[in-house]
Amino acid sequence: MLGASGAVGQELLQLLEERRFPVGELRLLASARSAGQTCQWNGQTLIVQEVTASAFEGVDLVLASAGGSVSKQWREAIVAAGAVMVDNSSAFRMEDGVPLVVPEVNPDAAFAHNGVIANPNCTTILLTLALAPLAARRPMQRVVVSTYQSASGAGARAMDELKDLSRAVLDGEAPKSEVLPHSLAFNLFLHNSPLQSNSYCEEEMKMVNETRKIMGLPDLRFTATCVRVPVLRAHSEAVNVEFAESFPVQEARELLAAAPGVELLEDPVNNRFPMPTDVTGRDPVVVGRIRQDISEDKALEFWLCGDQIRKGAALNAIQIAELLLPVA
Ligand code: NAP
Repeated sequence: MLGASGAVGQELLQLLEERRFPVGELRLLASARSAGQTCQWNGQTLIVQEVTASAFEGVDLVLASAGGSVSKQWREAIVAAGAVMVDNSSAFRMEDGVPLVVPEVNPDAAFAHNGVIANPNCTTILLTLALAPLAARRPMQRVVVSTYQSASGAGARAMDELKDLSRAVLDGEAPKSEVLPHSLAFNLFLHNSPLQSNSYCEEEMKMVNETRKIMGLPDLRFTATCVRVPVLRAHSEAVNVEFAESFPVQEARELLAAAPGVELLEDPVNNRFPMPTDVTGRDPVVVGRIRQDISEDKALEFWLCGDQIRKGAALNAIQIAELLLPVA
C-alpha cells in the first residue's frame, strides 16, 4: 500500500480487514516523514517503510494513494515488478488504455488494463452510482451538478485543520489556514483546484471528463460547480438530470432503491433527506428528494450524500481489486 499513512491509506487498511481481502503479506509504504510509524492491522503490528523500487518486488497488487506525482514516479517500477496498481490519484484517469472504474457501473472495463487501473475522483464515483441506473432506463442528455465537498477530500491534514480552526473560532481567535487556502471553519469556498482556461476549476472538469469516460458517453452535456464546505468527511451533491423524454419520479425512486451501492432516504412527511452524518463511515451513496424539475418536463432533480473517503476513494479501490481476484 503506497500512501499508507494518509486519509485514504488508513481507510484502505480498515477495509482490507473488514472485507477479509485475501492478503499474504502487506507492505505499508509512505515517505520518509512517516517511515517507522506503526499500524495495527489484523492482529499484526506493521511498520511503515519509505518507498523504494525494491519495495514492489514480489507484489501482486499496489493500492496507491500518495498523490499523482508519486504514482507517476513509481508506475514503471510497479508494472515492471508484475503488479497491478489501483491508483487513487488523478495522474492516469484520462489516459487511453487506463480503465477508470466504478465497479457497480462499468466493472468489465477493469479487465482491459495494462498494469494500471484508475480510481475516479470522489465526487464522480458518488454521482455515477446514482446516474447509471437512470441512464440505463432512458438516455441521459444533460447533467447539472453542484457539490458540497468535505475537508477530507483534501486529506488527513485538512481534516485536522478544520477541527483546529473551528476550535480557534469558538475561542474567539482569528483562524489561520495552512493546508487549505482559506479557513473552512464556519465558512465555505469554491473548490480551490487550479482554474482552467474555460474558467472551470480542475475539480469541476474532472467530474465532466471522468463521468463521460466511465459512462461511455463522450458527448454528454455536463456542467458542475464544486464547493468546499465545513463538513469533516462526506460529500453532498445537488443533481439535475435531463433525459430524452420525461422520467416518472416513482420509476426513478424504484430504480435507485434497487441499484447496487445506492440507498434511498425519502421522508417528506418529516422533511428529512440525506445528510453527511447519515453516510459517514458507511458504504452506500444515499439519495433523496427526487423530484420533477418544475422548469423542464424531461428533467429530474435529486440530492445525494456519500462518504468520500470510503466509497469515494478506498472502498471503490478495493472493490476494483476484488474484481481482479481469481474466481474461487
Ligand atoms: P493524505 O492524507 O495527504 O496522504 C498522503 C499519503 O501519501 C501519505 O501516506 C503520505 O505519506 C504519502 N506521500 C506523500 N508524499 C509521498 C512521497 N513523496 N513518497 C511516498 N509517499 C508519499 O492524502 P489522501 O487524502 O489520503 O489522498 C491521497 C491521494 O488520493 C491523492 O492523490 C488524492 O487526490 C487521492 N484521493 C483522495 C481522496 C480523499 O477522499 N481524500 C479521494 C479520492 C482520491 P507521509 O505520511 O509520509 O507524508
